[in-house]
Amino acid sequence: MTVIRESPDLVPLCPHCEAALTEVEARTIDVGRGGGVQIRFGRRYVYACPACRKEPSISHRKGFWAG
Ligand SMILES: [Zn+2]
Repeated sequence: MTVIRESPDLVPLCPHCEAALTEVEARTIDVGRGGGVQIRFGRRYVYACPACRKEPSISHRKGFWAG
């Protein structure tokens, strides 16, 4: 069993450049176009490390994909 301990001072590091992720940049991308059928949940957030612009692994939600 894994014990999850809350650590208010935890600062995650970017897995690419190891910068401290005190903040991440985010924007929405619209993926509902061009597929023929309009997807209702066609919005997805994309996150980026502000230092290297690569995407840290932040909770990818798969449930909103329609196929
Ligand atoms: Zn980075």
